[in-house]
Amino acid sequence: MLTPFNLDNEDFRNHLYNQSKDGKRLWIYPGRIIGKLYKARTLFSWFLLITLFGLPWLQYQGHPIFMFNFIERQFIFFGVPFFPQDFHLVALGLVSFLLFISLFTVLFGRIWCGWACPQTIFMEMLFRKIEYWIEGDDKSQRKLADAPWTKEKIIKKFSKHFLFFLISFGISNTFLMYLIGNSDWLKMINEPPQLHLKGLFLMIVFTGVFYFVFARFREMVCMVVCPYGRLQGVLLDNNSINVQYDFKRGETRGKIQKNTNSLANGDCIDCHWCVRVCPTGIDIRNGSNQLECIGCTSCIDACDEVMEKINKPKGLIRYDSFNGITKGEKLHFSKRIMAYSTLLILLIGFISFLLLTRKPWEGTLLRTPGMTFQLNEETHKVSNMYQIEILNKSFENETFSIQPEEPFELIWIGKPIKQVEKGEIIKGNFFLRIKEGEWKKGKKTYVNLVNLNGQSEQLKTSFITP
Ligand code: SF4
Ligand code: SF4
Repeated sequence: MLTPFNLDNEDFRNHLYNQSKDGKRLWIYPGRIIGKLYKARTLFSWFLLITLFGLPWLQYQGHPIFMFNFIERQFIFFGVPFFPQDFHLVALGLVSFLLFISLFTVLFGRIWCGWACPQTIFMEMLFRKIEYWIEGDDKSQRKLADAPWTKEKIIKKFSKHFLFFLISFGISNTFLMYLIGNSDWLKMINEPPQLHLKGLFLMIVFTGVFYFVFARFREMVCMVVCPYGRLQGVLLDNNSINVQYDFKRGETRGKIQKNTNSLANGDCIDCHWCVRVCPTGIDIRNGSNQLECIGCTSCIDACDEVMEKINKPKGLIRYDSFNGITKGEKLHFSKRIMAYSTLLILLIGFISFLLLTRKPWEGTLLRTPGMTFQLNEETHKVSNMYQIEILNKSFENETFSIQPEEPFELIWIGKPIKQVEKGEIIKGNFFLRIKEGEWKKGKKTYVNLVNLNGQSEQLKTSFITP
């Protein structure tokens, strides 16, 4: 229980903050606050937005730096192509990412949500700003919402939603570029629409989804849909840094007494400014680790503004841990943090090893299923038939030579494999042949796959004899 003080009204526990008692959505009009942290977040968000919108335009060796083409199962991370055959790397990468998120959350709570989550960045740093610019602050927005449909209201609402739609269209196209790469995207928008019906359909669907999320659904994404918010309860502990209300200093809250100009017992003057600016509509004073709190720091800026006005020290709401508030403790490395960190370092080490030793191709060799050996009565030679498959995982065409173990002979069935085009899979069949009695029954053999640079891979297989 993170609120060891008595709350006068615990009704907030019975329904979502943006919901009336009969279940209707209550629209949130967050107050406009520009404080130190908001300015820092704005700068950081510009960096993130430029990176997000700029990355799809960057190319390395004629290919995008990042591409996540789930439809054609082609992926590029930092300019390196990956294929479904690299699934183990993706799975390990995801496990490390989850571990990193857990460790980060244990240490710094919801800093990700407030500072870097695309939902918060788009909502608070783009869409919300446009709303303030066109409709004014929270009071003006409420007034406009309650006003009849005059010409001014129609113009304001139409311009706002038009801009929302344009930005959603921009985000949708960027998203599409990450999926198919910018050259395919450019083709799609320059060629006749009937040639790219699938892509255009996706573009319309994404635009609709983004528009709906940022124009209507908004904070519901964080409160209802996002699984990360729901993980907070199990990840955070009293040592985690989060946006916290210093209830020791703030309580008992109360208005400034007009006659004496003195405060109630605590520093909180119950002005509700921290509640008014909250984009999810919550009251941070009801407890710091609330599911709906996205760690956006608006309440910190708001309260600092109030404290400055009443000549009290800033930081009644601040980044701190529960232990920091109650015992004045600094963040320390608990056993849990140590365990997460060790595991993460091991995993990152293992993935780095796999990446560094990863070859730009992959070969598989199978003795043809259902076939036994062939014995030539005249030459007294035994042969087995094989299927080979080579995947070229690079952006270059690769030339291979396929060499059997001594003293085997390799006889191709049909055209021998020599070159594998970039990103292609090629299949071939051959016999491995040896003199009868020259190979021990049950002993394994191999063929070497060697490219022009002398890089090789040994493909093991079985060889059956009479
Ligand atoms: S802004 Fe500060 S003083 Fe005002 S209600 Fe919130 S915590 Fe109390
Ligand atoms: S409680 Fe504060 S930090 Fe949390 S979402 Fe609301 S304004 Fe942002």
